[in-house]
Amino acid sequence: MSDHCSIYSHIPFCIRKCNYCDFYSETDLSQIPDYLKALETEIALRAASDIIIDTVYLGGGTPSLLDVKQIEDILQTARGRFQFSPDAEITVEINPGSVDADYFARLKKTGVNRISIGVQSFNDDKLKFLHRIHTADEACRAIEHAGTAGFENISLDLIYGVPGETQSSWIKDLKKAIERKPSHISAYMLTLEPGTPLARQMKQGAFVPSGSEMMSLLFKRTSQYLNQAGFEHYEISSFSKGGSNRSRHNSKYWDLLPYMGFGAAAHSYDGSIRSWNHRSIERYITDLTSGLLPVEDQETLTLEQKITEYIMLRLRTLEGLDLEDFQERFQLSFQTKFKKILGRILDEGLGMIENNRFVLNLEGRIYLNSIVETFAAAVL
Ligand code: SF4
Repeated sequence: MSDHCSIYSHIPFCIRKCNYCDFYSETDLSQIPDYLKALETEIALRAASDIIIDTVYLGGGTPSLLDVKQIEDILQTARGRFQFSPDAEITVEINPGSVDADYFARLKKTGVNRISIGVQSFNDDKLKFLHRIHTADEACRAIEHAGTAGFENISLDLIYGVPGETQSSWIKDLKKAIERKPSHISAYMLTLEPGTPLARQMKQGAFVPSGSEMMSLLFKRTSQYLNQAGFEHYEISSFSKGGSNRSRHNSKYWDLLPYMGFGAAAHSYDGSIRSWNHRSIERYITDLTSGLLPVEDQETLTLEQKITEYIMLRLRTLEGLDLEDFQERFQLSFQTKFKKILGRILDEGLGMIENNRFVLNLEGRIYLNSIVETFAAAVL
């Protein structure tokens, strides 16, 4: 493990499930105290005082369901077991339906310096369709309270592509987001994940999903609109107001750097081994109460897996894939190994090689998944 690392801590509780969500979370909040005790035990068991933590991310689930004191306790446990870099980025995900002005004011004092607010939309009908627990007004108030509390690094999550969404309705959402002057916006395309209530409703004919043409159009409009508003489209779903407001935590994933995941269902990666914890909260608590690490399994990535992940993650980004870095990591020339695919992508105008980097353009990023699949098939 390198001496620098990130921490992700999973808080798998929600007031109720949003119908599109396939993240692991439960709505039985009575388990929170035992879960937090187990979380602290896991952090203690995996302590390493020589590791420097430069980013921390509390995600979920709904971390803002926790009392501020509980968040502070998690951070204090981590600070006591690892070295924290003085400028560590510490992010907490916030659901606008679970917080008030006082919450932000107290959260600011804990050292949390970045918040990610799950707004999803400023349109109440869209929020209802997504089965969110909050209204657009509540989201606006949460953003305002965060600013008043002194948070400068505020990211807003938005979703586009609900059935019937048009370019103009989506641009209205983006406009309202920009008016609130966030430092960062994450704009996610709605996907109908198998097993979610929304996917079931669609199968039963309750609505017709937006087609891929409309999704591509919305993706491109998002990029153009936010670029014009001064946001850098630095990753497929991520936009930052200037380079310094990029999510440092998420950038580490895209740079394939190590991270430690604490909590039920959390994943960890040390540069070659990936491990993941049991999903079940009960199992997570029982294991840790008996002093056992709650690891369900682990795998050592093969060279092929590492190459595929590298391509998949780097092509998401504005900087793309560094050809020299690829050669150094894998002792392999990217241009030689993938000559044919590369040629096709360049010919079809989906990407370019610039400054010794292979980068997908906006059109290419629309086809990211199928491009990555083509590379993956050729790795073997
Ligand atoms: S609040 Fe977030 S984690 Fe919870 S169900 Fe909704 S989308 Fe999923």
